[in-house]
Amino acid sequence: MKRNRLYLLIALLLGILLAVLIFFFLTRDISDPTSLRMIENGELRTGPQASYPVVFKVDKGERLKIYQHEGKWYFVGNQDKKGWIAGWHTSLNIKPDVTPAADPFKGKTIIIDPGHGGSDQGASSSKGTLEKDITLKTALMLRDKLKKEGAKVIMTRETDQFIKLDDRKGTGDVFISLHSDALADATPHGLTVYYSHDSQKVLADTLHFSIKKKTLLSDRGVRREDFQVIHQTQIPAVLLELGYISNPTDEKLMNDRVHRQIVTTSIVDGLKNYFIY
Ligand SMILES: [Zn+2]
Repeated sequence: MKRNRLYLLIALLLGILLAVLIFFFLTRDISDPTSLRMIENGELRTGPQASYPVVFKVDKGERLKIYQHEGKWYFVGNQDKKGWIAGWHTSLNIKPDVTPAADPFKGKTIIIDPGHGGSDQGASSSKGTLEKDITLKTALMLRDKLKKEGAKVIMTRETDQFIKLDDRKGTGDVFISLHSDALADATPHGLTVYYSHDSQKVLADTLHFSIKKKTLLSDRGVRREDFQVIHQTQIPAVLLELGYISNPTDEKLMNDRVHRQIVTTSIVDGLKNYFIY
C-alpha cells in the first residue's frame, strides 16, 4: 500500500512538472516568438512607426527572424535585410493600431500657390523654360492628386495670371508655395525647403524628407527665410524650391512629366505623414 502511494505521488509530481513545462513552452511561444511569417506584402522601416522611411520590401510568405520588439512593432530580418515591421502584417496575430491613417486628408484644406504668373515670369533658362509655367504645371498636378485623396484645395492661381504677393494666402491647414531657384552660375542644383515661423518647421522637415527620399533632386536642406508668402501667414506654410532652372540637369527634370509625377506624389505622401503624426 505504501509503495503504491509513493508511485502515485511520483506520478502526480511528474504530471505537475509536465504541465508546468507545457505551460512555459506555450506562453514562451506566444509572448516571445523567435520568427514570423509575412501574411501580406509589407515594408521594413528604419524605426518602429509608420513615419519612419522604408528600407526594404518584404513579400507575403517570407519568413523573418525576430531580433527585438517595441509595442506592436518588430525588428526583423535575414542575411539580406533588416528593419521594423508592424505586427499586424505578420503571422503574429496582432491587431492593427487605430490611426487616422485611413483618411489623413479628411477635412483638410491645402492652399497651393504656384509661384509667379502673368507678367511675372519668375526665373528663366537660356532654353526658354519659365518658372511660372513649371510652378503652374506642378501645382495643377498636385491639386488633382490631393483632391483625389479627399482634401479640399485652394489655388492662388489656376491660369497664367499675375497675383500680388499680398493676395497669395487663404484659410486652410497648410500653405505650399511652389518655385524653382535660379542663379547666374549654372552649377548649383537641388531641392531647398523654406519655412518662416518656428511653427512651420515640422511641415518643412516632413515635406523635405519625403521629396528628398523619392525624387532625383539633390538636397540643399531645410532653411529659414522670411519670404513674404510664408511669413505673412500663421498657418503651417512652406516654400519649395524644386530644383534650379539655371542648372541643365534640374531643368531637364522640371520639364519631365514623370519627374513631376514623382515630385507631386512625394508632396502628397509628405502631407499624409504630416497629418497622421
Ligand atoms: Zn520663384
